[in-house]
Amino acid sequence: MMPESTSDWATSRVFAICHGCDWRYLVPADAVPTRCPHCASPDIELLAPGTAQFRHTAPPESVVPFAAGAEVVSRQVVAFAEEIPYPPKDLSPEALVGRVQRLFVPMWLVDTEAESLWRAEVGFNYEVVSHRERYVDGGGWHTQEVRENRVRWEPRVGRLVRHYDNIAAPALTSYQALERVLGGYDLRAAVRYDPAVLADALVRVPDRAPEAAWADVQVGVRQRAQDECREAVGADHVQDFRWSPSYSGSNWTLSLLPIYVTHYRDDEGVAQRILLNGQTGRLYGVKRGSAARAQRRALTIGAVALVIFVLSLMVALLGLLLPPLLIVGVLGAVLALLIGAGALIPIGRVALFNRRQRNIPVEV
Ligand SMILES: [Zn+2]
Repeated sequence: MMPESTSDWATSRVFAICHGCDWRYLVPADAVPTRCPHCASPDIELLAPGTAQFRHTAPPESVVPFAAGAEVVSRQVVAFAEEIPYPPKDLSPEALVGRVQRLFVPMWLVDTEAESLWRAEVGFNYEVVSHRERYVDGGGWHTQEVRENRVRWEPRVGRLVRHYDNIAAPALTSYQALERVLGGYDLRAAVRYDPAVLADALVRVPDRAPEAAWADVQVGVRQRAQDECREAVGADHVQDFRWSPSYSGSNWTLSLLPIYVTHYRDDEGVAQRILLNGQTGRLYGVKRGSAARAQRRALTIGAVALVIFVLSLMVALLGLLLPPLLIVGVLGAVLALLIGAGALIPIGRVALFNRRQRNIPVEV
């Protein structure tokens, strides 16, 4: 039976497609975003419930709530900006926290029945105690006890009929890329779906059908079955686990995982996306230094060098009257030239940094 609180799932949310990047969402009917959190495009089309694209929109079974708060986002952004030489002015914790959007990505949860004969090698730990004789100069023979850990392997066969609950499998084709940059989620923290947990957050619609995710489910079930067989025979290890299960009664539901999405604008006004794992606070974003800020710094240093150079020339001219001043003037001019050359460093640093960052994949 569907809980009462989920009945507004289809009516309180509308299906939205971003024509900039083809991301599909369920958005709150009363808080439709003006820009896509993924590509910042304003070209978002809303579809009414019941249209063909409105698939997999049964209410989720569970939701992993946001655990990282605004202070974590702020701290992470500060640490992120510190790794960038001359970060753009727009990259401030206040600006980024202010434009945070909360997003949930879907994960399939599968309950299924598996039945199979199995065979495996199971291993039991045991300890071997032996004695070694050692001759010590001046002390004669000594006996030394030596303990070694070994594993005894035995073949086992059995039959297994089991019901497995909540085997997780990605419901987005990009999930693996996302997990690589944001890390995984602890699904044990999930709570039963309640509209209040989602509030104004956007929800991504699965783009990976159950047929495509089934292979991942089988891997998950196999891992659990293998662990159970090891436990059932009281073994410490298992290897070469073989089975050929038949599955029945599979039931697919969704769990939702939290992500913060925000962005900053670089020198060219391009929105650079920043994502944070809503549970752990782990941040991912493309780092872009500000060439404009580096140029301003270079101009300041150049101006200082010019002033020193002009003063040095004047001192050198005075050297015609008072010879020791000539040395001071020449040294000052050399110093000014060195500082002038140093003015190029900020520009070079930012250019090199930004070029290296281009190699990092942006699309997740
Ligand atoms: Zn988009």
